[in-house]
Amino acid sequence: MPSLDPGKKSPGHTKMYKNDLEEDGIPHCLECGEILYGRSDKKFCGATCRNAWHSHFRSGKRLARSLTLNGLTKNYKILEDLISLKQKSCPLDSLTVLGFNPELITHQAVKNGRHTEYRCFDIAYCQSSAKIFNLHRLGGKL
Ligand SMILES: [Zn+2]
Repeated sequence: MPSLDPGKKSPGHTKMYKNDLEEDGIPHCLECGEILYGRSDKKFCGATCRNAWHSHFRSGKRLARSLTLNGLTKNYKILEDLISLKQKSCPLDSLTVLGFNPELITHQAVKNGRHTEYRCFDIAYCQSSAKIFNLHRLGGKL
């Protein structure tokens, strides 16, 4: 699972990560890349490397979660501003310039089989390829 490789997601970590099994079939430590001797199911050269690897892995997950939350918060702020300006629609181009990420939603509901309604917390909107529209706040009926 290359997307979960913590070595690629920890900037500031300068060590080169290697695959646990390289072309020559010799297993290497997932953390430091040292050749592993002994049992073939070993993944780390020792407890220090195992702990270090697992803590990168955990912080990678935390990072993904906080990036998503930050993105949703930013989206929410932008949508809130539009509502306060009594705007019911906005071109996607303008939204993305402001930092809106259309991929981040908290809920998706199909309404009347026509348009998909997306939600960012208590704010709902529909989206076409060019704009969002029917932007409104859900009055307590989430
Ligand atoms: Zn190691």
